[in-house]
Amino acid sequence: MNHDLYKALLNSQYLSTKELLRISSKKILIIGAGGICHPFITYACSSGFKEFTIVDNDVIEESNLSRQYLFSRADLGKNKVNVLNQRLNQTYPNLKIDAVCMRADEKFLFDAAQEHDFIIDCSDNFLTRYQISDVSKELKIPLIMGFGGKDQGQVFFTSNQSSSPCYECIFPRDDFQESEISCQTAGIVPLLLGMVGSYMNMILLNYTLRKIEPKFLTVFNLGDNGVRQISVNQDPNCTNCFKK
Ligand SMILES: [Zn+2]
Repeated sequence: MNHDLYKALLNSQYLSTKELLRISSKKILIIGAGGICHPFITYACSSGFKEFTIVDNDVIEESNLSRQYLFSRADLGKNKVNVLNQRLNQTYPNLKIDAVCMRADEKFLFDAAQEHDFIIDCSDNFLTRYQISDVSKELKIPLIMGFGGKDQGQVFFTSNQSSSPCYECIFPRDDFQESEISCQTAGIVPLLLGMVGSYMNMILLNYTLRKIEPKFLTVFNLGDNGVRQISVNQDPNCTNCFKK
């Protein structure tokens, strides 16, 4: 491991060299290579995480560039996952990135998740989000979800242990099953994606190092400069947590 790359991190004394090595052995599955993935993976790499699978089938469009800052104009038309792989390896030469150019479906998620320590949901539609929630719950893999729309960003974490709440405990599927709205079509103030992706890293780092598990849905609200933490408990009526 090239310690110069992590000099500021180690000098902070928030973690030791041994802990940095432990971080570097964790495998992270990221769904979505868009606006939340960019700040997320930027700071995950700078925290010492090195092994990622990123799945996304999109190509880079001009309208992505204001939020997806690891891409440039020269990348237009290329697959997002391949460019991310190339770009991050220019800074961190020892990364292991498996760039998967496809739309994540339930079978892929189920097979891939079993090979990883964390699932990071940076997807932009409800169908995929519920599939990720289902799979992570079934396999008991910790899940960090980031999402945003209009002037609000949200982050939710679940360790997926037996008494942990799931995404569906907060947002029951029935309320959204007819919805075709994606975050892209709803629009988003881009700076919120930076807050969401960065905050997901705070959770990832603290849970990896110290098993600190937030019990909140964290909401970033642009209009009033607000950061709110809403307590979340398992819903006894949740059909995902309590399958019949
Ligand atoms: Zn639930």
